[in-house]
Amino acid sequence: MSSAQEWIDRGEQVIMKTYGRYPIVPVRGEGCRLWDADGKMYLDFLAGVAVNNLGHCHPRVVRAIQEQAATLIHCSNYYHIPNQIELAELLCNHSFADQAFFCNSGAEANEAAIKLARKYSRETRGENCFEIITAADSFHGRTMATVSATGQEKVQRFFDPLLHGFKHVPFNDIAALRAAVSPLTCAILLEPIQGEGGVKVPSSDYFRAVRHLCDAQGLLLIFDEVQTGLGRTGKLFAHEHFGVTPDIMTLAKALAGGAPIGTMLATAKVATAFSPGTHGSTFGGNPLMTAAALAALHALLDEGLLENANRMGDYLMAELQRLKTRYPVITEVRGIGLMVGMGLTIPAGEIVKRGHERGVLLNVTQDRVLRFVPPLVVTRGEIDEMIAILDMILAEIHSSEVGEE
Ligand SMILES: *Cc1c(COP(=O)(O)O)cnc(C)c1O
Repeated sequence: MSSAQEWIDRGEQVIMKTYGRYPIVPVRGEGCRLWDADGKMYLDFLAGVAVNNLGHCHPRVVRAIQEQAATLIHCSNYYHIPNQIELAELLCNHSFADQAFFCNSGAEANEAAIKLARKYSRETRGENCFEIITAADSFHGRTMATVSATGQEKVQRFFDPLLHGFKHVPFNDIAALRAAVSPLTCAILLEPIQGEGGVKVPSSDYFRAVRHLCDAQGLLLIFDEVQTGLGRTGKLFAHEHFGVTPDIMTLAKALAGGAPIGTMLATAKVATAFSPGTHGSTFGGNPLMTAAALAALHALLDEGLLENANRMGDYLMAELQRLKTRYPVITEVRGIGLMVGMGLTIPAGEIVKRGHERGVLLNVTQDRVLRFVPPLVVTRGEIDEMIAILDMILAEIHSSEVGEE
């Protein structure tokens, strides 16, 4: 078998450079740990970017994939798919939603939401009702429609002309949102907590005001819970923290324990706008991926993981707050459950790099925010291990900065 460096050299030749990849080649995972091609072990506080909520290779997901793969991998949405129906029932029984559409990623789930919102609003409110308001610093995906919805110039750059009909307002600013609504507006699309935008938690009354605005103006409220959903914040869906329900919600990342799947859920009233032939996906909700998702969702609900996300999230945040009292480079610790961000006065990249050297996978968003999204199965001992390493790194950086002065 090739070494990590050999794989990196081969990848350089044949893989398009859409990612700034770290020089790490994970080949095996279990729980909160990954091993690379050279046998080096890492403690994983990125979890595939909030995908591996159950930890790596959860036995129930592994077994479901193995058994389904030997039974039926794919047929077509021309036929009825029992696993897909069971998964839709389970998601609807645990949420505001009545019906589901399945696809393969978060971006596709948001594409479906955008198309459903436009079609529903055209039919109920008129031909010119198509505009969707989203937030600055939001992230909704990399397809053309979702890039247009995303409120980040760095995601949109080079791809003009963008899709017409999106307006961006500052997050957590109800006055700006009210001012942006016009007769063209059909929906408001928001992440309950901005993930890629730097783990931004809105004030507790923001979403109630957003819901009220939508009801008063006849707008659809769409929650992108691709990152926040499925236990990440200690509740099954993050919007449960805010006491409001949307009309449409999108999920993906953690839904199938690491297997690719996305879904767009809606109330029955809104969902009826999709009639046969109006939207679709070849692979969406196929027997294999929905078997994985069913196993993952049952594991999430049965194994006390929401409680663990709450307990460990509180513990992680308390430990990070403790570091904040000792290191002035830390400006803020924020988050809910196991979706935690730590603001820094310096770029976080150097901390991430030194973490890798010491066997911890961390992540940076918005340049100066360290993001912690470990598997929801993380233990106190694993948090202690990560904190000890982070403490060591911050001490090194602190002493080198003091030395320079
Ligand atoms: C990751 C993410 C997406 C995009 O999901 P893909 O599966 O990469 O298409 C969309 N919205 C949010 C909030 C995300 O975090």
